[in-house]
This record gives sequence, structure tokens and C-alpha cells, in this order.
Amino acid sequence: MGFSQYFEKDLYGLQNTADVRGMQLARLRERMADFYGRSAIVKLLLDAASVDPEKITLEKFREVVPVRLQRESAKASAMLGGGGNLVDTIASVAGIDPQDFLLLCSTSGTTGEPSPYFFTEQDLEASARGFSRALYLLCGGDEAKIRAFRVVQAFALSMVGAGVPALEVFLRLGIPVIPVGAEGGTERIFYFTEKLGGNFLFCTPSLAEHLLDKDPQRAAGLGLVRVMCGAEPGAGIPEVRKKLEEGFKCPLVDAMGLIWGLMWVSCDQDPYAGMHHLSDDMHLVELIDPDTQQVKDMEDGATGQLVVTPLTGSMPPIRTSSGDVVQVFVSPCACGAPGWRMKVVGRADDMLKVKGVVVYPAQVDGVITGFVPQVTGEFRIVLEEPPPRVAPPLKLKVEYGEGVQKEKLPELAAKIAETMHEKLKVRPEIIWLAPMSLERSTYKTRFIEKAYE
Ligand SMILES: [Zn+2]
Repeated sequence: MGFSQYFEKDLYGLQNTADVRGMQLARLRERMADFYGRSAIVKLLLDAASVDPEKITLEKFREVVPVRLQRESAKASAMLGGGGNLVDTIASVAGIDPQDFLLLCSTSGTTGEPSPYFFTEQDLEASARGFSRALYLLCGGDEAKIRAFRVVQAFALSMVGAGVPALEVFLRLGIPVIPVGAEGGTERIFYFTEKLGGNFLFCTPSLAEHLLDKDPQRAAGLGLVRVMCGAEPGAGIPEVRKKLEEGFKCPLVDAMGLIWGLMWVSCDQDPYAGMHHLSDDMHLVELIDPDTQQVKDMEDGATGQLVVTPLTGSMPPIRTSSGDVVQVFVSPCACGAPGWRMKVVGRADDMLKVKGVVVYPAQVDGVITGFVPQVTGEFRIVLEEPPPRVAPPLKLKVEYGEGVQKEKLPELAAKIAETMHEKLKVRPEIIWLAPMSLERSTYKTRFIEKAYE
């Protein structure tokens, strides 16, 4: 029971191999044929192109199935299913009984309308299988270490994947969990971690930073053995990672996916080597150019927008993108764990182009955070016209740190501009603000000020 019921060592070891790619094509054909018989959308797509589902090739699949943005799924399903509620329409897309969806969740909707995602028993099982591999990687295969985790769940519990679905996954894997939730606020997170002996903090990087800023001594004394972050790119940014690891006195890992078995997790390699993909057998992952939608080769250093097709669970094999833009690495990691890796660069929606140079707010955040404590770390990118085009220079409102002398600010601005030019090929104009003048957020951080609105 528990962990051993869900962890499949043979499949874990197959990640990023020719064997698993063969398995992907076989599964794709199998599922295409299966869904062809019961899902109107799959039948429509294949019939329109006169494709035999059992003989479809990867090239044909990409030609026939367009990439759908996750946030548009609600609208698309409503169109396909006609009236009725979203559960009925999505069940008709999946070709199943609506009552088979046991857990009905949605994204937080911070980047637009919340998009629903539902779990059948099969989907929950896949989620536990995927997550078990992340824990195995973290512990270097030492299951006794996994047994010793007591998770402080401090993501929002309501609706999102890292909330109740993740709670279900922890319970299936036999891992004790304290579901305090981000809603509880920092004092309750501190209190229950201390009183109930939590040792594995599970939250967004901005919440982890917020805990540290609030009470650094208390954070250092929690006795954590791990911080696992997700939902934002913060944990993959060297400066943020350093701050959190020093502050909590334990290693930080970055995770993505968690639902339907899709799983990425970072290792302890220093410098940060990206997140290992651990579900090649359950999901087909592609990279596309955010501008042209053309598929890009998965080769070391390639950057593109992530597109995922489920090869397991209740959802049909439809190419879906959450809008994340990543850089991939397919050569073996020095840590020895399997799986190709990726670093999150930003979101396709957040992309800015300064004189043709592509910049993501998360990258700007990385540079600014490197200047703490001379700056507070809070900043805004001031946009004077709708993105992605930005007429140079890129304007940044940055809070200087407490105790920084005003006459030193021009020199500091020049240093930040130089570092940013070196790392991102963009030279910003810095507009200084007093400490604490920008609004703080404990959830997903917002970096953009729309001066054109
Ligand atoms: Zn690694």
C-alpha cells in the first residue's frame, strides 16, 4: 500500500529513452482509436483529414490536431457540447459519464478566466504515480526518507491542483500532510508547522519568500528538510533559490505538473540544472515557437512554448498548452537521475519584445533579486503600450533598499542596467521608488504596470 502501490521503478528508469518514445507512439495510436469511437472532437479532427487513428504518425498528429490554449478550453468545450454545464460538456469531449468525474477543480484564473480540470479515479491514480517519481528522485531512491516527510501544504487549498488534488495524492502515497493552506495566512502556517512538526514545506516561491521576510528567525528554526515550490518560476531563479535555501536552511526544489501524472521536479544539482521530466510514458510533450506555432526540435538549449498531450487518464489526446515558455536540456544530468530537463523562462502571455529582444518578467525578477538588500526586490515593468512590443528603453520602477543613501542611487542604477544588459541583452531605465511603496502580494506576483490603460 501507499508509495509502493504507485511507484513503478521500471517506467521511472525509461524516461527520455528511445524505448519510451516507441511506447508514446503506440499509446497515441491506441488512444486515438479508443477516443475515435466515443469523443466527437477526436472523430471530427480525424475524419476531416481522413486519418486512420490506428496508423497515425507523430507528424500527421501534429498536422491534424491544432494546439489549444488551456485557458480557452472552457469556451471550446461549451461550443462543442452546446448548452448544459461544463461537467456535461467536458464529459462529452472525453466520451464518459459526467458522474465519473470525482474531483472537479479549476485553475486559479490569475491570467484570465479559470479553466476547469476534472479527475476520474484513473486521473487521480495517474497523479499519484507521477508524484511518486518526483519523491523518489528527491530522495535519491531512499524510501526511508520519503517515509519521514510530513508535508505542510501551504498552496491555496481551494480548487487548484496543488490544493485538494495534491492532498489526495499525498494521502494515496501514505505521506502525512498538514493542510493549512495559503488561505490560513503566515501566522497559522508558522504555528501549525511548529506545533505539528511539519518538515516539508509545499507552497509558491512568493509565499515562501513572504514567510522569510515576515520572520527570518522563526523560518530558520522550523527544522524543515525540504521546501518544494511550484506555480511560479521563482524557485528556478538562482537568486531566489539562494535566498530560500539560506533562509529555511534546507534544499529547495521546483516542481511542475502534479495533475494527471504530468510531473517535473528539479534535482539538487548546483548550479540549478532545471526540472527533470518524469512522465514520458504518460504524456507527450512538445515545444512550439510561440509566434509561429511551429514544432521545435527537443535539443539541448532549445526554447519554446510547452505543449502537452495526455497519453493516460480520461482526457482525449489533444495538444494543450498552458502558455509556459521553457528551455530544454536533453543530455543526461550530472545528478544521474533520468528524464530530460527544462527551465521555465516565462509565459507566452508575458513575453515582451524590446527592439526584437525577447524578455520575460521572470528573468527581470531574477536580476533584480540579485541586488537585494540594495533593493527590496519589489519592482514593476512599466508598459506604455500593450505588450509584447516595448519601445526602448525598458522602464523599471524599482524600490531601493532600507538604508541605501540617495546619492548612491545613480551608481546602483548603472550597475543593475549593466547586469541586465549582460544577462538579458536589454538595458533598462531605472525609476527609483522608496521602500514599501509598491503593493505586496502573497500569491502570484505581478510585475507589470499597464501605464497605457
Ligand atoms: Zn539532475
